[in-house]
Amino acid sequence: MPTSHTKYDPQNVFAKILRKEIPCKAIYENDFVLAFHDIAPQAPVHALVIPKNPYISYAEFAERAAPEEIVAFTKAVAFVAKELGLSEGGYRVISNTGKDSGQEVPHFHMHIMGGRPMGFMG
Ligand code: IMP
Repeated sequence: MPTSHTKYDPQNVFAKILRKEIPCKAIYENDFVLAFHDIAPQAPVHALVIPKNPYISYAEFAERAAPEEIVAFTKAVAFVAKELGLSEGGYRVISNTGKDSGQEVPHFHMHIMGGRPMGFMG
C-alpha cells in the first residue's frame, strides 16, 4: 500500500535495515547514507540510497536536512551509480514522494536504475 505517513515510523523496513535488524545487500556507506540493492529489481541494476537520518520523504529531506547532508546524499547517488558501472550507459534516479507517487516505504530513498534502455515511465 502506498504510504501517507505524516510522522516517521521507526518500524519501517529501511529503519530496520539501518539498525541491522534485517539484512541488505550493501553497496556503499558513509556517515550520512547507506546504499543497497533493491530486493525486487525493476531493471538489471536497481539500487536504493537512503539517508541515515529519519526523513519520511524527499519533501521532508529537502525541507529539513542540513546542507552538508543534502550535498553528501547527492554525491553518494552519483558515486554509487558509477560504482555500479552505469556511467557509460546512463541511469535513472527516482524518488517517490507521498501516496499519489506510490511510495511504499516511508523512509526517504532514491532509486537508481540502469542496465537497459528505459521509456518515459518504465
Ligand atoms: P517505493 O515504492 O518508492 O517506496 O520503493 C520501495 C522500494 O523498496 C521497492 O522498490 C522495494 O522493492 C524495495 N524494498 C522493500 N523492502 C526491501 C528490503 O528489505 N530490501 C531492499 N529493498 C526493499
